[in-house]
Amino acid sequence: MKFDLHCHSNASDGKLSPEALLERARDAGLSLFAITDHDTLQGYRQVADCRESFQLVSGIELSTVWSGVAIHIVGLDFDPDHPAIQAMIERLREARHERALIIDKRLADRGMPGSLQGALTHCPDIGQVGRPHFAEYLYEQGYVKSVNEAFDKWLGSGKIGDVKTGWPSIAEAVTSITDAGGVAVLAHPLRYKMTFSKLRQLLACFQEAGGQAVEVVGSSMQADKQKQLCKLVQAMQLGASGGSDFHSPDWQWAQIGRLDPLPAGIKPVWQFFQRTNIETL
Ligand code: AMP
Ligand code: MN
Ligand code: MN
Ligand code: MN
Repeated sequence: MKFDLHCHSNASDGKLSPEALLERARDAGLSLFAITDHDTLQGYRQVADCRESFQLVSGIELSTVWSGVAIHIVGLDFDPDHPAIQAMIERLREARHERALIIDKRLADRGMPGSLQGALTHCPDIGQVGRPHFAEYLYEQGYVKSVNEAFDKWLGSGKIGDVKTGWPSIAEAVTSITDAGGVAVLAHPLRYKMTFSKLRQLLACFQEAGGQAVEVVGSSMQADKQKQLCKLVQAMQLGASGGSDFHSPDWQWAQIGRLDPLPAGIKPVWQFFQRTNIETL
């Protein structure tokens, strides 16, 4: 069964339209697919009524903060019109706006003025403004030699543009998903660069809040670490999910549907789905 439950459209920081994502999902022969934009459902909504050869699951990737680290929580198979998820999205929209103003000021103080206005030119009208849009502006203006350098110097973890104020807690994000009838998934656990003992604490907090599954397959996961992660997830009786985290056709390492199958003996996330019919998969 082929699936991809983590992808971005141009409603957040992805390069392609939601329609183009569906085309790729079709070409990849998927059975189950989710568009999980950062803090917005605008992309998913554009194609929610499509009739496809695969099941399209409602999806989102919520920004949270835990122990000073930005942690992403993917929501799947929830009711997109439920007030709980709507309220969370509204809160995150405001938090993103406030954060963008702070980033704009901090970059201006370092001789890079007008970055919010510039970032918005890289973000479609329906979009959620984020650090990748600032990165593109810095690159366009010649302040950095690449988008990657923009993150390394100014926007990445621990840099001045890494502003986490305003993000909800893991518990708040998970509750907004479960209240809306969905399943909360911890996104890309190996990308937080934590020790396994810290990761265990993170998983415990996530599970305590009602989180049910963890991404154990994804793009560029180190094989030995992935094995260790699967053991931990199984020991905690959590379910397993996975996704490419597709953003752009140019990121060859993260293409739609290019994923290992879930390891045997671990409960697939879709077994928790209540809205999507998985009988036909
Ligand atoms: P934001 O949601 O605004 O906090 O931005 C986070 C997004 O920035 C992530 O989802 C990635 O897509 C992107 N990102 C993070 N680090 C890098 C990097 N070094 N190079 C390019 N994009 C990055
Ligand atoms: Mn992203
Ligand atoms: Mn993420
Ligand atoms: Mn993502």
